[in-house]
Amino acid sequence: MPGFELFGDLERKEVNDVLDSGVLMRYGFDGMRNGYWKAKELEAALAERMQSRHAHLVSSGTAALTVALASAGVGAGDEVIMPTFTFVASFESILALGAVPVLVNIDDTLTLDPDAVKKAITPKTRVVMPVHMCGSMANLDALQKICDTHGLLLLEDACQAIGGSYNGQPLGSIGDLGCFSFDYVKTITCGEGGAVITNNETYYQNAQKYSDHGHDHIGNDRGAEEHPFLGYNFRISEMNAAVGMAQLSRLDEFLGIQKKNYTVLREALSQIPEVVFRTVPKGGQENYSFLSFFLPSEELAQKAHKSLGEYGVDACFYWYNNNWHYYKKWEHLTELKSLGKLPEEVREALPDYSKADFSASDHWMGRTISCLIKLSWSEEEVVERAKKMVKALQGAMDNKQ
Ligand SMILES: *Cc1c(COP(=O)(O)O)cnc(C)c1O
Repeated sequence: MPGFELFGDLERKEVNDVLDSGVLMRYGFDGMRNGYWKAKELEAALAERMQSRHAHLVSSGTAALTVALASAGVGAGDEVIMPTFTFVASFESILALGAVPVLVNIDDTLTLDPDAVKKAITPKTRVVMPVHMCGSMANLDALQKICDTHGLLLLEDACQAIGGSYNGQPLGSIGDLGCFSFDYVKTITCGEGGAVITNNETYYQNAQKYSDHGHDHIGNDRGAEEHPFLGYNFRISEMNAAVGMAQLSRLDEFLGIQKKNYTVLREALSQIPEVVFRTVPKGGQENYSFLSFFLPSEELAQKAHKSLGEYGVDACFYWYNNNWHYYKKWEHLTELKSLGKLPEEVREALPDYSKADFSASDHWMGRTISCLIKLSWSEEEVVERAKKMVKALQGAMDNKQ
């Protein structure tokens, strides 16, 4: 997945444009910037690539989620449905607005289970937030139908799936709002950065103002601009956007490499009868940033994970035990370990997750292994890796009691 593996002359050139002018900020200083508007250019290029009317860059993927929710008017006490398997940024962004994260089971897509979403809807629900984990997507048709029926917003977290598609449409562009991260380990990187995309003019206008202290961005005198509503600072810097310009121009090249490497590994693993690949919803195209598969039991998955390590196959994750990506280790959320007092709305409405039954999620997560697909592997390295993975997994299966 990581774009940082292929940082080169293109990236350097874009950054040098900014260094030459010395204008490191995305707004203002019109006369000094030698005509360079990297953030604006990247927004135009991203909107075009994602077939979306608007793209707005911010400082991180977490900021993108926060700004996206804020732009649609989500606030204190509103409930946002999110999956048990995701990065902590999902609930961080929801809590930042005083809204309530409602955790919901995943299914064999490793993303939100539409039936579980239906059951979690209350009069306070405002948003359904599927997270397209590890390069593949939620069943967006089913989720869209639920959202239409109940008058809810669909917000896609496509931070780990940029470049994937669903029924021919880019992931992130299908819901009312979509979010990307360009942090250092994502498919394309800005160093740090993120983006919100939407076809909705109001959300876009709200997002670009909210992420810059409420600035209305009218005219070319920042000090004289109006502040129609309260905002915050989630701005991206011009330097980070410059890196993104180069990386976005290479997205399709990166996706091609990922697909090639993924396919070699997947074909090799297909020989092992116990390995079942994650379900990709009909009409979906992964971005091939991970190869994820199920083993027959939790015990065998743990054994397989250990065996992969022993064979020197790095970057394979057993998310079930992971501190950052699965609800089981989110005791800071469960026990509400905040530095300061949280809003009443959150303290009163947050479900008691220590008592929640997410056995349906455990059923899938306990058996899942996800292997990162790197861009920098040579053809020989991929073939070698495939052989090692087959041996490691067969070894783990042969020893089953
Ligand atoms: C990385 C990531 C984020 C947050 O992005 P940052 O840029 O690191 O803040 C949010 N959601 C998912 C699924 C991610 O993988």
